[in-house]
Amino acid sequence: MSRQSGGRGEGGRPSDLVRREVWVRSAGRCALCNTYLLEGSLSGRVLHLGELAHIVGRGSGVRSPRSEHSLDPARRDDADNLILLCADQHREIDAAGAVDLFTVEKLGRIKQEHEDRVRHVTGLGPDRATTVVRMVGPVHGNDVELSQQTAAAAVIARDRYPLFLESYTRHGLEIDLRGVPGEALTLPCTASRAASAGRVYCRMAAQMIDGVIEGQLRPGIMRDSVRHVSVFGFARLPLLVHLGSRLDDTVPTDIYQRHRQDESWVWREEDGPHAGFVTLLDRDVPAGSEAVLVVNVSGAIGMQEVPAALAGLRRWEIRPVGVPTDPDIMRDSGRLERFAAELRGFFAGLEADAKTLERLHVLAALPVSAAIALGRAHHPQVHPQLVVYERLAGRYVATLEVGAAGGTAAGTAPGGSPGRGA
Ligand SMILES: [Zn+2]
Repeated sequence: MSRQSGGRGEGGRPSDLVRREVWVRSAGRCALCNTYLLEGSLSGRVLHLGELAHIVGRGSGVRSPRSEHSLDPARRDDADNLILLCADQHREIDAAGAVDLFTVEKLGRIKQEHEDRVRHVTGLGPDRATTVVRMVGPVHGNDVELSQQTAAAAVIARDRYPLFLESYTRHGLEIDLRGVPGEALTLPCTASRAASAGRVYCRMAAQMIDGVIEGQLRPGIMRDSVRHVSVFGFARLPLLVHLGSRLDDTVPTDIYQRHRQDESWVWREEDGPHAGFVTLLDRDVPAGSEAVLVVNVSGAIGMQEVPAALAGLRRWEIRPVGVPTDPDIMRDSGRLERFAAELRGFFAGLEADAKTLERLHVLAALPVSAAIALGRAHHPQVHPQLVVYERLAGRYVATLEVGAAGGTAAGTAPGGSPGRGA
């Protein structure tokens, strides 16, 4: 394709009016890679780096790719046939070795999707901004892709546009737990060694979470530049609960999660059977200073799996109603909101009925979003401290206390004996 050459308008090029239309419809960004094309990345100066590429070439032959298309030659300098690109990608879509990949249909669709997105996102007013907090840590050695684009797509699907905390590189995470040592140490050993390795790991990771919340997010809230938060988490369960507990109650917050079915972080439309949640008093003995909460949502924890040291305590269970337990149970955000409401009701009930309670031992099979919601529903000033358990080396062991000042690793099992985690 001849680069911005030939055709209607002054000097045989697409007219100034047409060029302006394409630039505006594309918001000054490359329709392929979204690069901002009015500023040099090296100089920081205002530069016009974009190029208008013809989708259907306006000339003929190999120098004018895709020109064999049936589009009326008189329409080939229209804004609908011009796509704003950066120079490298303009060259690439026209290169002889790649032109078969970049068909008229494909380029047309890319242009349309980019321009539709620009129109949608720029139509969202400043009150639709949300500050993204992404946390990724390994879970038994695995982690997930959670780029800025992934998070952006998920919040835009809910009619918000993302702001990212400053001082991070384009590809950096807000809370990156992948460098915290010791996660793998909880795998291959005995339950007691796994428990102590788990506690050390969780304590270090919790400190990293606290550092980002206190050093990055809280100042933004204080300055009033953070007015809404969108949280994306993938990490070991106690750390998700801890993250939830450190989020500010006064700032509206949406929680996201990766859906196993399609590996997407976008919340789906509410469909399928209605899922609710209910709290049952599973073991009705008087609540002393300690009690147990079993949360069976993504899976079911057998009562024989409750550590022997907890077996005599008052025990509640939260479980789904209307659908079975399922790792992908949080299909839509309505389900998560109902789960969070059930948790708030449960904690409110403790304030009324279990005033003597100091520590609540939590054994939970929860999707990541629900684990964050659990931490968020908990208020350390009024609720008992949470002792969060994980299944390590085949047994449930306490690895983190949530709601202690500053968030500390679980050091004591019921009865106060250090390290007797099961
Ligand atoms: Zn580009």
